[in-house]
Amino acid sequence: MDRVVLGIDVGGTKMTAALATQSGKIVKLLRVHTKREEGAEGGFKAICEMVQELLNEARSQGLTVVRIGVGFGGPVDFGRGTVYLSHHVHGWENFPLKEALEKRFAVTTSVDNDANAGTLGEWMFGAGKGIDDLLYVNIGTGIGGGIISGGKLVRGWKNLAGEIGHMTVKPDGPVCTCGRKGCLEALASGDAIGREGTERLGRPVKSEEVFQLAEQGNEVAKQILSEAVEALAFAIGAAANLFNPKRVILGGGVAEAPEHLLIEPLRARLPRYTLPQAAEGLEVVRAQLGYDAGIMGAIALAITSIGD
Ligand SMILES: [Zn+2]
Repeated sequence: MDRVVLGIDVGGTKMTAALATQSGKIVKLLRVHTKREEGAEGGFKAICEMVQELLNEARSQGLTVVRIGVGFGGPVDFGRGTVYLSHHVHGWENFPLKEALEKRFAVTTSVDNDANAGTLGEWMFGAGKGIDDLLYVNIGTGIGGGIISGGKLVRGWKNLAGEIGHMTVKPDGPVCTCGRKGCLEALASGDAIGREGTERLGRPVKSEEVFQLAEQGNEVAKQILSEAVEALAFAIGAAANLFNPKRVILGGGVAEAPEHLLIEPLRARLPRYTLPQAAEGLEVVRAQLGYDAGIMGAIALAITSIGD
């Protein structure tokens, strides 16, 4: 029987699950939306229904599911497979997701945060293929990240490695979602760019509009983006000096901005914060998986954990 994996991407209220081959080809994909007020209980029920449907599908095609990989939108204790919490949905505090799924479906399961899963996804199937030393930075409403070093995902002892979004860039800067001040996330995320735009333009704007205005030559918008790029260069340069990646991959909604507004100025400013030898040959590219990043990350997590 052919061995396949099952990936699950758990967002705030968006859940995606897929059956995939060990080379990442999707056999069947399901998407559902859950309601925030149904909490973790509703989310877990939706996950179980999708898993059951995909296991049935696998059986009917003569396929054996050998691993389940879950990319969760919030911090996770990878060793135990327990969710610490969700910033968006109540009830996930200390939820033993790995144990609950294994008990129910008797398939070995790995649970990790979506930034680590996204890093594995880009490494196996996207912009990081064949690159064993890379930094993944996801710039969306917040900033997440992950590190592949020497061909392995770096997790750290509490699975907190790669949290570049909470690197302090400006000690007295704006307050971050983590409660501290001046983190990269508070300076260069979509929310941060929108906040600066709203403040300096004197009307409510989102980051997309700041990019549009900069494209049209608006000086205030250009200044806001220039400061965000400076913060990114500072943090990425520090990370590059620390573990010497070959490639930096930028994912998330903000990274979809035109190259000349984000990636090109970032490339230009990186040498200011990076050792010349580490900056030489360092590539900065856009992620390739886009909308599928979450589910491909979960599939990559399942594949890489086979044999663990
Ligand atoms: Zn922070």
